[in-house]
Amino acid sequence: TTKLLEINNLKQYFPIKGGIFGRTVNHVKAVDDVSFYVNEGETLSIVGESGCGKSTTGRAVLRLDDPTSGEITFQGDDLLALNKQEMRRKRKDLQIIFQDPYASINPRQTVRQILEEAMSIQNVLPKAERMDKIMELLDTVGLGSHQLDRFPHEFSGGQRQRIGIARALAVDPKFIVCDESVSALDVSIQAQVLNLLKQLQRDLNLTYLFIAHDLGVVRHISDRVAVMYLGKIVEIGEKKEIFDNPKHPYTKSLLSAIPVPDPSNQQERIHLKGDVPSPIDPPTGCRFHTRCPFATEKCKNEVPELRVTNDMTGTHQASCHHIEEIESGAKQPNY
Ligand code: SF4
Ligand code: MG
Repeated sequence: TTKLLEINNLKQYFPIKGGIFGRTVNHVKAVDDVSFYVNEGETLSIVGESGCGKSTTGRAVLRLDDPTSGEITFQGDDLLALNKQEMRRKRKDLQIIFQDPYASINPRQTVRQILEEAMSIQNVLPKAERMDKIMELLDTVGLGSHQLDRFPHEFSGGQRQRIGIARALAVDPKFIVCDESVSALDVSIQAQVLNLLKQLQRDLNLTYLFIAHDLGVVRHISDRVAVMYLGKIVEIGEKKEIFDNPKHPYTKSLLSAIPVPDPSNQQERIHLKGDVPSPIDPPTGCRFHTRCPFATEKCKNEVPELRVTNDMTGTHQASCHHIEEIESGAKQPNY
């Protein structure tokens, strides 16, 4: 396997202006020292509650918002070293599909115009040859030629998302960030669009960074999963490891909140205290300590690093001081 994308120590701090002089008085630490990689042809999902920094991470990877610091390497190229124009050209390889394609497409353009424009921006094919490709794209995403001259509002949510996918594919990308791409759709439509994304991945050897809050969706599409909490990755590993053998109390709490068909297989329920703290002034030590039923003094004072756990794959990592004691039962939840 080849690493297509590698992120190191990514930080995204958004300044908060205040006072009568409008100076920067503080920062929202939306993403705070995040590192991961995505292998060619796989789907890495980032999962977490709203505000955990998952969308911000996706946007930073494409430099839709330039990150505060860190390294982003795509096929060996340092993306942060590119100037604006070079980066725009690079977006031929790195595309994004949003939750609501309606918000990112011009409502006055027909499907034909939307796809033509995407190709013309990146100089895909001579103009005269684009029409064939547009027809092919429609077919690929399950839309028909009779829909060519329709406007976005004439489509259902699921069809609009197919237009969003066609637009991303129009430039023959290698890598696509799917930011809550099926979250706004009905469950049955969700499954159709997820299956389409999987099919396209196989046919076109695409690599996905799939951002979602819904664990059911993540389970369906991922090869590996990263769990984020308050701007940090707290656990990452192969999908099966994360779902069947979670190590971090936060991951366990997320999983124990979803119902499973076989109740005897249910993860032990982990109840969390309070709400997610503010990313402006995150808790010291382990950021999860204000809500974690296993927290100790050490958790308040020392930041736990991501470390390989005692799993079989050798790639399953979690950031918790007390993984082993929790696992052995030596440490019980303190409610
Ligand atoms: Fe909980 Fe402490 Fe582990 Fe953080 S380090 S998840 S507070 S036990
Ligand atoms: Mg989001």
